[in-house]
Amino acid sequence: MDDLFAMDDEQALAWDLRERKYRANDYYGEGRPAAIDILDGSTGLLVTAPHSLHHFRHGRKKPADRYTGSYAELLHAALDATAVIPTGPIGRWENWEDRDDPFRHALDRLSTPSTLVVDLHGMSDRHGVDVCLGLGPAPTAASEELAHRLAEELHPYQVSINTPFAATPHYTVTAYVQTRTPADAIQIEMAANIRNPVLHPKRSGDFLGRLIRGLERFRT
Ligand SMILES: [Zn+2]
Repeated sequence: MDDLFAMDDEQALAWDLRERKYRANDYYGEGRPAAIDILDGSTGLLVTAPHSLHHFRHGRKKPADRYTGSYAELLHAALDATAVIPTGPIGRWENWEDRDDPFRHALDRLSTPSTLVVDLHGMSDRHGVDVCLGLGPAPTAASEELAHRLAEELHPYQVSINTPFAATPHYTVTAYVQTRTPADAIQIEMAANIRNPVLHPKRSGDFLGRLIRGLERFRT
């Protein structure tokens, strides 16, 4: 793979340092329960990393999507995007109706008709693709176009759309935003080996650069 976006040791270390606040307390985060960070940007891009920390579904603990919290920070900095990221223990919830916490309130407040929510997640390396773009239950022509353009932009990484993660379950941020707010949304699931600046600095730096370039044209 050509070295289009190299990341030096210092940048890799800086990225890893950003992850510390999420890694704190065994990945329950350094903040108080339900705490989030909102990093304000001036574009229509809203980046979320709802699984920056451990969380629960159907009573079972789901491990944090490592480095997605710091990833959202990096996209905020590079793209002037707004970012919403949990920084303290995420409460248990099953339905958005029951979810009465700062994360949901931030989504409600920040999702306008001109907002594109980019919901970042981490998947394991065993799915056979590097990235899976999930269009959610109610994609628009714009989000479908974005997905196809991103897939091209991210080449030579293996990018799939909707398989294995389509973001259609009701509990996803993408489903919530598409069906309960005026904003548009897309989910990005990244394999572990493209989002770890310590174990995979070269691939992670390169992928980050390509993703930034791919999202740049969708800032409004
Ligand atoms: Zn996730």
